[in-house]
Amino acid sequence: MTCELTIEALHYRYAGGSDAVADLNLRLGPGIVGLLGPNGAGKSTLMRMLATLIKPSKGRVLWDGVDIAKNPDALRAQLGYLPQDFGIYEALSAREFLAYLAAVKGLPNAKARARIDECLAAVGLSEAGDRRLGDFSGGMRQRIGIAQALLNDPQLLIVDEPTVGLDPEERLRFRHLLTDLAGQRLVILSTHIVSDVEASATDLAVMAKGRLRFHGAPEQLVAQAQGHVWDWLVADTRVAEIRTQHQISSSLRRADGSVRLRVVGERSPSDEAQAVAPDLEDAYLWLLTRVDAT
Ligand code: ADP
Repeated sequence: MTCELTIEALHYRYAGGSDAVADLNLRLGPGIVGLLGPNGAGKSTLMRMLATLIKPSKGRVLWDGVDIAKNPDALRAQLGYLPQDFGIYEALSAREFLAYLAAVKGLPNAKARARIDECLAAVGLSEAGDRRLGDFSGGMRQRIGIAQALLNDPQLLIVDEPTVGLDPEERLRFRHLLTDLAGQRLVILSTHIVSDVEASATDLAVMAKGRLRFHGAPEQLVAQAQGHVWDWLVADTRVAEIRTQHQISSSLRRADGSVRLRVVGERSPSDEAQAVAPDLEDAYLWLLTRVDAT
């Protein structure tokens, strides 16, 4: 088992729509891959193709060298998937819910019990196994989502926008959980939140408008933004106007009524602005700005 996913010239077009995914080539190996892109970039469509829920319009996907269109079961046996709109049964306990899904996934009864305990432990919910899912917090629900994705001990774990709706503490906990789980697996974490990726991914793919715009180490993306980021202290009355003319990656309001802006662009926004080293948030915005310009 080498845990290698190869995506070749992949396209997907919804009936009556334009290309949701176009000409996508990507080779991924073990570890956490952050798939970053704004809403509508095509991330979910790509995830659904990888999970064999929809078939590519063109191109192919190989899992350990095997075409998943020709042999979907080889991938499905190794797949754990947490979709974006993961629904749970409020009235069931966590353990009942996992037992139900273990049965759906065809896990033999004798094995299921021990595996459910392992999965609850892996997501830090051993103590909550007999509580109703209806009483779970958003973060606990997402962890149960991961627990169900782990039932078959998958080599490929796909999680689609898992941190949406989580509070900062739960989000942090969830990122740590993914890092703990990665090991020799390939984990694909799709998100539009840069800090999700920053905290856990060693490999980064960025999609926008259906296409792959970057693939590499996060620091390589950061390097691309070198010389394109400025720190600029302005009066708060100017901020609205500046926003219409420049790309702002962050702003910090100060007690004295001024605002510290980080501006991303081709050239310095003002003689008063100081060049600064880019971070991943700046670099992502700089990449998207260039995509929008094309
Ligand atoms: P992301 O997950 O990055 O937000 P999606 O894969 O959901 O992006 O969407 C990519 C594009 O495909 C968007 O333009 C979206 O409007 C379109 N799209 C998504 N789902 C459907 C659908 N079921 N029917 C038609 N168009 C869709």
